[in-house]
Amino acid sequence: MTYDPSSEIQDYLIFGEFGGVNPSITDSSTYTFLSPERMEEVFDHEIAGCFLYSRHWNPINRYLSAALARLEGSESAIVTGSGMSAISCAILQICNAGDEVVSSRTVYGGTYALLKNFLPKFDIKTRFVDIKDLDAVRGAITGRTKVIYCEILSNPLLEVADIAALRTIADQNDLKVIVDNTFCPMIISPIDLGAHVVVHSLTKFINGTSDCVAGCVCADEKFVHELMDLHGGASMFLGPVLDSLRGASILKNLHTLHIRMKKHSENAMYVAEQLEGLGFKVFYPGLASHNQHDLMLKISNPGYGYGGMLAVDLGDEKTANRLMTKMQIAKVGYLAVSLGYFKTLFSSPGHSTSSEIPKAEQEELGLSDGLVRISIGIDNNIQRSFERIQNCLQEMDLL
Ligand code: PLP
Repeated sequence: MTYDPSSEIQDYLIFGEFGGVNPSITDSSTYTFLSPERMEEVFDHEIAGCFLYSRHWNPINRYLSAALARLEGSESAIVTGSGMSAISCAILQICNAGDEVVSSRTVYGGTYALLKNFLPKFDIKTRFVDIKDLDAVRGAITGRTKVIYCEILSNPLLEVADIAALRTIADQNDLKVIVDNTFCPMIISPIDLGAHVVVHSLTKFINGTSDCVAGCVCADEKFVHELMDLHGGASMFLGPVLDSLRGASILKNLHTLHIRMKKHSENAMYVAEQLEGLGFKVFYPGLASHNQHDLMLKISNPGYGYGGMLAVDLGDEKTANRLMTKMQIAKVGYLAVSLGYFKTLFSSPGHSTSSEIPKAEQEELGLSDGLVRISIGIDNNIQRSFERIQNCLQEMDLL
């Protein structure tokens, strides 16, 4: 029997054993059975609401997974110990030795390195393309391709993927579309647009407090079941189980995600407009100047804005580094990788999160040495924060 989030058992469990408003945290790696026969039955049929061993499922991760499935509009979901493990498990569940992936060339550096350097060890090859160029996507598909992979908003250049068009190509070639929606939870719903599988690094906006690393895979019940299959599931054997205590804290943070995403977007729009107004080259899909602004308007859910991520090109590495150092001293935010924190974070992707991408390829992608990626926080007074940025720019004679 598969897990049914709408079942009576689930309704009962949602209120916790002791009636707490939050589900109880189960602090157990293993679970008792009243008889050997019942143990066998649970192993054979995976009875809903019954737990065997925490690497497989545990109650809090069930609740968090069910909540994430509702967030993404997928039939089911499974949480993992990191975004990278969610990505690896999803790809490895679909691809066998000899298979191929067609991937956007502008993906998170870790994902790029996984596809380019690590998966070839298992004879899984990736062809990287400009995901905006649908002819290039079609041209990269061979008889061995199994997956089209992309980020909904690419990292760090914030290019928008046209999921509906990619799904049409996938259907013509019997492929699965996997979309990393880490940058745009609530703002974009890739499953509604046609994605088969959505992956997230929960480490970012969804958790929002930069205090843990976690991930998830949202998909149909069949796929999630396959991932956790006791005899063949990538997640079962690679074992990226999320700790229950962390699962519980992420679940609580998830409940404020809608408010946070609106504020991240509102603040990012303000900073993007101001920087552009000062004459800087800004990458932000909410700006009319963004070359895919219309697509972004078409696919985003109304009311949540265009996300908390923007990038600004300062021209060269030295200027970018000076600005970031000054912004940290001026308390604009922190010079740190990652994103989705309640405070502003900034880094130079070419020298950090995208450094896995060879220099020549970075140049080809338009990833300049002077690019600063900014994850805008939920500052109550973004005008004051922007004045600090402006002061830094003035001190550097850039205004
Ligand atoms: N996907 C994106 C878009 C990311 O930016 C990151 C990390 O920065 C990951 C996936 C990997 O997530 P994690 O660090 O949780 O493994």
